[in-house]
Amino acid sequence: MDYELAIIGGGPAGFTAGIYATRAGIKAVLFDSGAGGGLMALSPEIENYPGFKSISGMELSDKMREHLEKYMKINLVEDVTKLEVSEGEVKITTSKATYDVGAVIIATGTKHRKLGIEGEEKLTGRGVSYCATCDGPFFKGKSALVVGGGNSALIEAIALKQMGLDATVVHRRDMLRAEDAYKDKAQEVGVKILYETHMEEIKGEDKVEKVVLHNVKDASKSEMKVAAVFVSIGEEPQSQLAAQIGVELDVKGYIKTDRNMRTNIKRVYAAGDVTGGLRQVVTACAEGAVAALTSMEVLGKVYPY
Ligand code: NAP
Repeated sequence: MDYELAIIGGGPAGFTAGIYATRAGIKAVLFDSGAGGGLMALSPEIENYPGFKSISGMELSDKMREHLEKYMKINLVEDVTKLEVSEGEVKITTSKATYDVGAVIIATGTKHRKLGIEGEEKLTGRGVSYCATCDGPFFKGKSALVVGGGNSALIEAIALKQMGLDATVVHRRDMLRAEDAYKDKAQEVGVKILYETHMEEIKGEDKVEKVVLHNVKDASKSEMKVAAVFVSIGEEPQSQLAAQIGVELDVKGYIKTDRNMRTNIKRVYAAGDVTGGLRQVVTACAEGAVAALTSMEVLGKVYPY
């Protein structure tokens, strides 16, 4: 066996699972298809992770990764492409090698949902973006629309405003889904909100030039000139690997677990946003810790508490 435990995904759940596993004496490896950090690293500001009144997602991610690196090596840019579970072990195929392990934690998180409207795909990277932290600075002094009405949309709009953009949120309903703290902050910094409005099309030759908006209340259509569109309409679970081996998913595609983060398949555990629920950094961390220590049950080790 190459490792006792493999952790797939280097977001807060995976990082914490690694810290708890190695401290409990488990020989573990962590794979991430990119540079780690997950969606947490893209968040402009995190204000509800205890101990940090305000910290950028990138900084918190760096701190967690450095903390984990004190204990174990992280295999970055190594994409897990296949899982095979047999009675005694799990075989993991990655973009670089294959590994035999005793247990696996799937902590693959979520990816940004797309609007699916005309112009979105063609103009992605040319004014259409899913990350204010990454792309906001390119549009300083210009107008940007943020589509969505949840916490993420307001966080993105607040960040854009603070970067010097003229940011307006476009929301399909007459009421935001976001928490009051974000609503208050958005109002304080001067984010404008267009309610009951659908974005129907994004227009532009080789960059975003304007959008077509549909007002649901009076059924009117209008065009608005903008330099950028930030899509922030929620996330979809990255649960394909789990589905391939028969892990049970809920109707939205999130991995079903029990409260000890066991899936329906022995040796396979899941943690973090891919399991749905509250989807907060703090809950992802907690689930990662629980999953790591529960995995001891199939590794011939005893959890001492
Ligand atoms: P979300 O809470 O699911 O909100 C998605 C928003 O996008 C909703 O307002 C939804 O409208 C809108 N929407 C969905 N599909 C759409 C479409 N096709 N066209 C137009 N609008 C669409 O997603 P999120 O804001 O990304 O947050 C995801 C999770 O992370 C949530 O659990 C959230 O609480 C959590 N989160 C927490 C924090 C925090 O600091 N506490 C920060 C970020 C995210 P409706 O309202 O009409 O459904």
